[in-house]
Amino acid sequence: CGIVGYIGTENAREILLKGLEKLEYRGYDSAGIAVANEDGVHVFKEKGRIAALRDVVDATVDGPVGIGHTRWATHGEPSRVNAHPHQSETERFTLVHNGVIENYEQLKREYLPGVTQKSDTDTEVIVQLVELFVTKGHSVEEAFRQTLSLLKGSYATALLDKRDTDIVYVAKNKSPLLIGVGEGANVIASDAMAMLQVTNQFVEIMDEEMVLVTRDDITIKTLDGEVKNRAPYTAELDA
Ligand code: GLU
Repeated sequence: CGIVGYIGTENAREILLKGLEKLEYRGYDSAGIAVANEDGVHVFKEKGRIAALRDVVDATVDGPVGIGHTRWATHGEPSRVNAHPHQSETERFTLVHNGVIENYEQLKREYLPGVTQKSDTDTEVIVQLVELFVTKGHSVEEAFRQTLSLLKGSYATALLDKRDTDIVYVAKNKSPLLIGVGEGANVIASDAMAMLQVTNQFVEIMDEEMVLVTRDDITIKTLDGEVKNRAPYTAELDA
């Protein structure tokens, strides 16, 4: 299981699918991608192999931004509904997550009593909380930070906002996560292998850090808001 993401100028759909194929060796039960373009955020997901996902992806949908996931179910059976990406109530936010949110039931009870969950996953609470805090007047970055500070457990996660697709919000705690730095494009991956097709320059993300990823920039912050500067290393791997 793992996550991938792309923000640049090329066709994110194919880059994400290729990236997920590179993660196949980790084992998974379902997979999905979300691609953003001027028409909105398009989500495709399916139980089974990446080949099965390819069968349901609309090959006419193209966009320069997207996120993807291979799932190893921990909460909620393997199914299309439980496959990631997951979306918030109004579908403004779309999210992939690798890891386990241990306190998701408590968070649902405490913060989201009126929200109908669309899946049986622990993951969905993350994207619903972001929307809740944005509805209360916070910026997306602040809503994401607030949400992360409530989570107990492990996550490598990436979030898309339909209203601003020039940024991908990313965070990590106890699940692997790298940001790849390319030419006019940046990428997100659980494993460098997945994104060697775009770059071999990677920045390691530490626990309890979030990253604002745009086409030409990455900003790493701790959950306390402190900005961290970290140089990329060269991944010595064969694509
Ligand atoms: N806990 C999440 C789920 O069951 C994510 C599992 C994973 O890391 O693939 O959907």
